[in-house]
Amino acid sequence: MGTLVIIGLIAVGGYFVSLWVHPFHRCRVCKGTPGRHWGSVYTYSFRRCRACGGTGRQDRLGRKIFFNGS
Ligand SMILES: [Zn+2]
Repeated sequence: MGTLVIIGLIAVGGYFVSLWVHPFHRCRVCKGTPGRHWGSVYTYSFRRCRACGGTGRQDRLGRKIFFNGS
């Protein structure tokens, strides 16, 4: 039983370290293009992606929960 607790703590600790080192994931909407939403008619035109604000990245779920965003 104690071994399971230790493994669990290591897994949780590793996840927190991962959140600290890599707090973002690629934006799902613009796929990190970066932050561009391309026009479908005038394909040379684009606007800033609304989901990520033009950064092409979004906070990871754990980052929002445990660190209140970046
Ligand atoms: Zn985006």
